[in-house]
Amino acid sequence: MLPQKKRSRSQKLFPTVALALLLLPLAARAQVQTELWDGQRTLASIAELLRFTPRSMDTAGHQKTIDFIKAELAKDKVDVVTTQRWVFNAPDGKQHAMTNIIARFQPQNPRRMIVATHYDSIIKAYRDAKDPDAPMPGANNSASGVALLLETARVLSLLPKPAIGIDMVFFDGEEGSISLGAGDPNFQPVGSPYFVQHLKDFYPAKKPEKAVDFDMVCDKDLHLKPEPSSLTSAKAEVKKFWDIGIATAPSAFEMRNTPYSISDDHTALQEAGIPSFVVIDFEYEPFYNTLQDTIDKCSAQSLEAVGRTLLQYLYLP
Ligand SMILES: [Zn+2]
Repeated sequence: MLPQKKRSRSQKLFPTVALALLLLPLAARAQVQTELWDGQRTLASIAELLRFTPRSMDTAGHQKTIDFIKAELAKDKVDVVTTQRWVFNAPDGKQHAMTNIIARFQPQNPRRMIVATHYDSIIKAYRDAKDPDAPMPGANNSASGVALLLETARVLSLLPKPAIGIDMVFFDGEEGSISLGAGDPNFQPVGSPYFVQHLKDFYPAKKPEKAVDFDMVCDKDLHLKPEPSSLTSAKAEVKKFWDIGIATAPSAFEMRNTPYSISDDHTALQEAGIPSFVVIDFEYEPFYNTLQDTIDKCSAQSLEAVGRTLLQYLYLP
């Protein structure tokens, strides 16, 4: 995820009917067994991922992360799990083996939505005052998003099918091959732009209806706010998600948006014309991209706030 350099510059019913309208979302929510979504289990999954560190592009831990994600999805008997592999020719002339992982639920359902995260960690803990060249642990950035999606996949395998077909996408290379923090002024994600360039491989007839992207979602002191580019791209979806979030975990969700735009994997999806938003707590100081981004900064409660909100969101009509 991109640090704050990219700040945007812009930016009478009958009582019974009214009551019914108010109760509708509640009724829809009540059907989803959110208690199945387990924050402790998700925290354990983050601990597993941290064992593979470093998990940045081109490392052994990167491949172990791919293997772990695929093994977990296999346990959940996800309908179809495919990998999208290619070679990325970086501007510095280096070549990188890249892998996006796509887990498709109900692939025959013509209605599709994307639930995304990135699994690569940044190449080094460049904001660490003591050791800026050390490998990045990345409990929050990026293990938390991976663990969140894996737990959601597990719970989906236990529940009736939602109305919409879900494609979970675990993007590679969100942090870039060199990364902004490591001194690349032209930093941009690698995996999500490649995915949208090849969108027809997965969506030959029509684009997915919407996409939601997760990054940095385990902070003990979680404050999730809508982000301006997300509001521009998918205002109605942001509102739905935050309405559920505020009802589920009022301390973790705030309706007031961040004053700056954030660039992440949702950006490429937005540019591809898919209404897309990001769920991220970017206020993670002083740990952000330092050696202090470790599991003790995360909580099961924060993960549950996001996971249980996502689960209800996936079951909206
Ligand atoms: Zn990230």
